[in-house]
Amino acid sequence: MSKKEVVLKKTNDRCGYCGCPLTLSQVSVGHIISKNKGGDNLIENLIAACRSCNGSKGDRTLAEYRLWVRWQDICREQSFSVYQLIWLIENTDFTDRFPRDDVEFYFETMGWI
Ligand SMILES: [Zn+2]
Repeated sequence: MSKKEVVLKKTNDRCGYCGCPLTLSQVSVGHIISKNKGGDNLIENLIAACRSCNGSKGDRTLAEYRLWVRWQDICREQSFSVYQLIWLIENTDFTDRFPRDDVEFYFETMGWI
């Protein structure tokens, strides 16, 4: 079994973030804690993701990504880039209006974290 298959099995053949069903060829293997923030390549830190989720998560922390998903939900018409959102998070008090814990990722519902 390839590493990719093992990682995909962890989330029952679904994207670990949005929960959409994935085939092996659709999987992007991402890091829950990104490598540039000290994350490693152990199976525990790897997650199967759809291209869309993996692209938006990028090297953000889970907390930053959670906030970004939440904001995308609220501001559908004006979609902010991750960088714009990080700037807003760091430079405004808008975050007070958007609770960080509203979004639960699929892998968090699985009981292994
Ligand atoms: Zn996804």
